[in-house]
This record gives sequence, structure tokens and C-alpha cells, in this order.
Amino acid sequence: MKIPDSLKRYGLAKVFDYLDKDPMNNMSKVMDLVNKFAGDTLDRQRAAFDQVINDKDSCWHQLIEKVWTQTDPNVLKTVFNNFFVNANLVGWPKQEECRKKYGCNIPWAILLDPTSACNLHCTGCWAAEYGNKLNLSFDEIDSIITQGKELGIYMYIYTGGEPLVRKKDLIALCEKHNDVAFLSFTNATLIDEAFCQDLLRVGNFIPAISLEGFEEANDSRRGEGIYKKVTDAMALLKSHKLPFGISTCYTSVNYKDITSEEFYDKIMDLGAYFIWFFHYMPVGNDAAPELMPTPEQREEIYHRIRAMRQTKGIFAMDFQNDAEYVGGCIAGGRRYLHINANGDVDPCVFIHYSDSNIREKTLLECLQSPMFMAYHNNQPFNENMLRPCPMLENPEFIEKMVKETGAHSTDPQSPESVEHLTAKTHPYADNWTPTAEKLWNESHPGCAGCTACAGKQ
Ligand code: SF4
Repeated sequence: MKIPDSLKRYGLAKVFDYLDKDPMNNMSKVMDLVNKFAGDTLDRQRAAFDQVINDKDSCWHQLIEKVWTQTDPNVLKTVFNNFFVNANLVGWPKQEECRKKYGCNIPWAILLDPTSACNLHCTGCWAAEYGNKLNLSFDEIDSIITQGKELGIYMYIYTGGEPLVRKKDLIALCEKHNDVAFLSFTNATLIDEAFCQDLLRVGNFIPAISLEGFEEANDSRRGEGIYKKVTDAMALLKSHKLPFGISTCYTSVNYKDITSEEFYDKIMDLGAYFIWFFHYMPVGNDAAPELMPTPEQREEIYHRIRAMRQTKGIFAMDFQNDAEYVGGCIAGGRRYLHINANGDVDPCVFIHYSDSNIREKTLLECLQSPMFMAYHNNQPFNENMLRPCPMLENPEFIEKMVKETGAHSTDPQSPESVEHLTAKTHPYADNWTPTAEKLWNESHPGCAGCTACAGKQ
């Protein structure tokens, strides 16, 4: 029997109240109830969660306890409703329904750039020079979210530019769409007392703060004193019991620092609940391919992050090496897409080739465009989930998709041809393949030739 969304929401609101009385002891009973409501939605993830909450010694159990006891109660309740209930238990089945109805990918999350402007002048970043020439207006962002909710999308992630340059508009959007979850990549330097008060009031906005490593690594790229400003912002968030996480990009230069025990302990101490790792992508005419990790370095990163997961109470996601948990590449609307500050709808935040602009098409029309259908029809790009990407590890796919669909470069400053891009990734892909095959076969001994789970989740 299909349970109506309103009943799901009502039941789960009651669950939250019950849970809040004695969270850790009541959580396993609650999960039994959630499992009943959810049917087969996200069953693999829920099974893993069941295991964690029942193992009191696991670092993940400690993380859940920390989140529940050290987060502001209004924020916790709003995140529970908007993220767990709306974005997942209600939104996911709706996305699946729309996927079948419209014959295209329907994402779980939309990334969007409110502005190309930034308040810092980081080495190698165009945003400061490009200034505030490009912006999505309040009404445009509002329309994207309104259209998204019709398709079951309740998760919106801001990137940029520096999104908090537009913090007044972002808070107004939190108020207007108080049933969705917002997350924002940010350099954190615009987080102040007044903004913390806004976050406490709306409850549905979580910062993901960019860090390159320790003080020297940050300040040499971003400017003297920036690391201190960023850690001060974290202390302020923590003192208000506001949840936040870290976003970091590993390169051949900083990978050891940001996967070290010392770094993990530092950011946990500062109050971070999660850390998202991104692989350096050689995107753009001015990219520095030498910053891509070598196969040996990427293998070390793979092992270090997996090892830390066994002992550190922080949710760590390594996007390039964790594709097995999400069935491969999630771009092209399979689970997410990216809309830049010019309105171009990119398949991925790293793939700047598009045939659609949100100022000219509806969100659904963008998802049904040739470029997005090329993603839909070709995913997964590789059965080996350590080689998920059509640009980094399988560059022949991005070349083919761009050529066949006529997608153009959406780089606002210096458009890059796809051949220029893949000239950097072909050698990387060739070098990485033997290591990826070895790691995949070691970790998935029964998977050779099997495609049963590819593209799932
Ligand atoms: S296109 Fe590449 S970088 Fe983007 S989500 Fe897919 S695998 Fe990841």
C-alpha cells in the first residue's frame, strides 16, 4: 500500500518528538518504523544505518550521538524534516516516479551558483577578477526550486563564486522554501554573528567550509590571515550549536596533510560533522595537470580515507573513490546537476559543456535535452566504480557526448575545447587504470564481468 506523503510527514514528525526524549536508546525502534514507511527506498543505506546505531562502540554511533546532543534543537528538527523526510523518504520515490513518467534522469540534488563574485582573491581562481558580472536572480533561484519540488527535489547546494556574497537572498530563500534543505560551499569569511542568528532562525542551511589543509597551505593560496578567519567562523558556528562540514580538494601537493589523523582531529575539534573530499580536476585552459594525484598517491588516499572511517566520528565522503556507494557517476541529473551563474545547466560542477540554459528552458526540458539524455543513456560509464567519470577516467565518453549533442563550453572566462580538456585526462586515465583494476578486484572479488549493481542507488 502506498502511504500518502502527508501521512509520512505527520508520522515522522511524531517520531522525531519521541526520538528527542532519549535519542540513542529510541533510535533502533525508530528505524524499524522508518523502514516500514520507506518501503524499498534507500534500503542499502538504511541497512548500514541500522548496523551503526546498534553498535555503541562504533565511531559512527558516536557521531550520531554528537549530532543529536550538540546541535541546536530547532536546526536539528528542521534538518530531520527537510533532509531525512522530504529529500529522501518523500522526495526519492517521487523522483523515481518522475524518472519513469518523463523517460529521463531526475536528480536528488541541484547545485547552483547564485553569483560568480567572490570576496577573496585566491591564486588560480578566476572568480575575483570576473567579479559580479554573473548572477542568478532571486526569482530565478526561486523558480528553479519551485520546479524542482514538483519533481521531488528537496536538496539545493550552492557553489560559486562565493555564495555568501548573496547571503541576504539565500536566507530569504530559506524562509520561502522552508521545506527544503540547503547546503552551501563557502570560504566562511562572511559568516558573522548576525548570519549565525539567521541560520538558527531558518534552520535549513548548512555551510560546507573550504579548507586546503593547515594554515600555511590555506594562506599561501587564499591570503595572509584567511585560515584564522575561517577557523574563527567555525568556532562561532560551534558556539551556536550550528552544524557545518568541510569541503577539500586533494592534489599531488596537499593529499598527505588533508588525509592525516592530525587534520581529522583538528576539524573534528573545530566542530565539523562531515568532510567531503574532491579530486583535483584539470578543468579550464589555465588548469595545472601536475596537481592531479599520481596513481600511487590516489591509492594512498583511497586507503587512508577508508582507514579513518573505522576510527573517526566524522562523515567522510571521497567523491572520486566512493562511486561504488552511489552506483557510479551521479551527474547529468542521475542524482545531481549544476546550474552556473549564467543560467547554463551543466551535467556536473566539473563538466562545463551544456546545450541548455535555465533562462530559456524549464528544468524538465533541460533534463530531456540531448546532453542530459546522453548521460542518461551512457551511465554507468564504467563497471569499475573506481573509474566512474566520463571526463577523468573515461575521456572518450565526454568527447563523444559533446560532439554528438553539440554542447558548448560554458566556461564564463575562457571557453575550453573538449579536445584541450581530454588531452590532460587521457594520460591520467591510462596511468590510473591498472591501479583501479587491482583495487577493484581486491575489494570486489566476485564482481568480474557482473553488472548487477552498476548504475544503482
Ligand atoms: S561527471 Fe565525473 S566528476 Fe562529475 S559526478 Fe560524474 S564522475 Fe563525478
